[in-house]
Amino acid sequence: MAAQVLDFSTYYNIINNKLTSTAITRHAINPATSQPNPEVPISTQEDLDKAIDAAQKAFKTWSKTSFEERRTALHAYADAIEANAEQFAQTLTMEQGKPLTQSSTEVGMASAWIRGISALEIPNNIIEETEEKKIVQRYTPIGVAGAIVPWNFPVLLAIGKIAPAVYAGNTVIVKPSPFAPYCGLKLVELATRFFPPGVVQCLSGDDTLGPMITEHAGIDKISFTGSIITGKRVMASCAKTLKRVTLELGGNDPAIICEDVDIDAVIPKVGILSYLCSAQICMMIKRLYVHEKIYDEFMQKLVAFVKTLKVGDGTGADTFVGPVQNKMQYEKAKELFGSITTENLNAVLGGTIEDSTGYFIHPTIIDNPPENSRVVQEEPFAPILPVMKWSDEADVIDRANALETGLGSSVWCSDLDRAAHIADQLQSGSVWVNSHFQVAPNVPFGGHKQSGMGVEWGLTGLLGYCNSQTQWLNKKP
Ligand code: NAD
Repeated sequence: MAAQVLDFSTYYNIINNKLTSTAITRHAINPATSQPNPEVPISTQEDLDKAIDAAQKAFKTWSKTSFEERRTALHAYADAIEANAEQFAQTLTMEQGKPLTQSSTEVGMASAWIRGISALEIPNNIIEETEEKKIVQRYTPIGVAGAIVPWNFPVLLAIGKIAPAVYAGNTVIVKPSPFAPYCGLKLVELATRFFPPGVVQCLSGDDTLGPMITEHAGIDKISFTGSIITGKRVMASCAKTLKRVTLELGGNDPAIICEDVDIDAVIPKVGILSYLCSAQICMMIKRLYVHEKIYDEFMQKLVAFVKTLKVGDGTGADTFVGPVQNKMQYEKAKELFGSITTENLNAVLGGTIEDSTGYFIHPTIIDNPPENSRVVQEEPFAPILPVMKWSDEADVIDRANALETGLGSSVWCSDLDRAAHIADQLQSGSVWVNSHFQVAPNVPFGGHKQSGMGVEWGLTGLLGYCNSQTQWLNKKP
């Protein structure tokens, strides 16, 4: 176990299993303290070329290994992440801001995802077999994958791309967000102990690195998680070389609360699923529709519950709401909070952002804003929740489906038939009944409409790292 312990004080690129530095470095900021975090490399075109060269060479042998060999390497990797879980969690809180308990959960999910994804079996599909011929659809690895990761879930989302990429027989180059590069670099440094050179690599950089990767003809597949606007740029760039591309993009998830729910049981769940990670999760409750018959009681109890969520540095034992992750997001949130005044909205909790050492924002609840207000229309990615009244089922379904996003949605109802009837009409990649934001490594996850293209995780996600090949095996020459 001792050999698996990582040093978390210095950070390097990982190219061909070597820790490398760059002439120019940069650092991100601890969002709770505004203090600089350690220096990280700023990769150049030359660094990327070297990594791609190593990845292409490694692909030749890695793609020929068996699923069993890859699973064994992945399991050893998952064990090593677990052996370093505490340091990963601390580093995640340092760079992302989320409370330590939430960081530990995310790190735990990473090793669970590795095991869950490598338990999947890719079937050979025999389409037809006769005396004359057999027609088989099989799946082959694509080549070099580029994994572009955002700053909100930097551990799970890096592993959620590394594991399926290499398990399917590809090599992968990870690019963490410049706002949160630390855990990504350490995850890949740890991977060097279990995978041959060139199989798993990581490059940190500034804003120029993402476009360099999507433009590069040596990359065969991009898995991108991030905002809708960047996703469109990524797709346009990938089109030039017809790279395979999976896009996991932003969302503005509705949750519909029916009048028959047990309000006291539902409130803590809805409260947590609206403010987890300071509301910086792609699919969490961002528009809450509450039936008018229970609206007043629900609102009063929701406000009382959310008031109990402690705001503070993520290292504090009872913190639930850490800072937002970076200055850009903080400024965007301030600008959106300005619409409370300009649009004359009613904030029943919070509503202002006070200056502080870190990027702290107190949870805010907006009482029944008009459907066309900015807090309803835009993905806030900050702890501000619009709560709206509804009375007619068809109308609330229309309102839930009205946006260009379609990542997740939920229905909260004691009558499961009615819940299913509503759920069937919601336009999103995931729909939950009496929950929100449930995910699992064996369950596909993706967005409808502008929330994404393709899916990750589950067998369908794994096949996204494969080419389909049809073999026509004629039995007589
Ligand atoms: P972002 O789009 O700004 O950045 C995501 C990543 O893309 C970063 O690594 C960034 O450096 C890189 N990047 C930026 N410009 C690029 C370009 N032109 N080409 C290639 N790469 C580029 O997103 P963010 O602010 O880091 O993340 C927040 C957004 O991500 C939110 O909208 C959120 O909903 C979304 N998100 C979606 C999912 C999902 O699975 N659907 C998960 C998490 C976050």
